[in-house]
Amino acid sequence: MANSRHAEIYRSGRVFLAGDAAHVFNAGGSALNVGLQDAIDLAGRLNAVLREQAPLEELDAYQAVRHPAGEHALTQTRAQAALAATDPSSRALRNVLGEILTARSTARRLAELMEDA
Ligand SMILES: Cc1cc2nc3c(=O)[nH]c(=O)nc-3n(C[C@H](O)[C@H](O)[C@H](O)COP(=O)(O)OP(=O)(O)OC[C@H]3O[C@@H](n4cnc5c(N)ncnc54)[C@H](O)[C@@H]3O)c2cc1C
Repeated sequence: MANSRHAEIYRSGRVFLAGDAAHVFNAGGSALNVGLQDAIDLAGRLNAVLREQAPLEELDAYQAVRHPAGEHALTQTRAQAALAATDPSSRALRNVLGEILTARSTARRLAELMEDA
């Protein structure tokens, strides 16, 4: 999908990717949040290692934690972009999803998934 990308690796030695350098989403609303969460996660780990409060391996956990978060946001934003398209298939998908979302539990689950992204 256009302009929707995800780096496979967030760390190579002393080089770390975060924010748009790590992931680009094709629907609005998630990019700043996910990027800031990358930065907060990484800053905490770097601080702990530099203060010798955590072993060097702590830095590997950055990839383990933040890459799945990026992948989740990518899935959500790709789905949003597909639903927002104007072709007949996307319109049909929107209509079907609209029917399904009249169920409160389904709407709540979708909101939870979007909130996590
Ligand atoms: C028009 C537009 C609207 C958007 N709207 C939204 C929105 O509504 N909600 C949302 O969540 N996100 C939105 N985004 C996305 C959001 O702006 C980005 O996700 C966010 O700015 C990424 O932050 P970042 O720090 O990762 O990268 P950037 O903001 O791109 O920061 C990278 C910085 O690094 C600097 N730099 C680059 N190369 C070098 C170098 N070699 N040496 C030194 N410095 C360098 C750049 O000059 C830049 O200042 C929008 C983006 C655009 C373009």
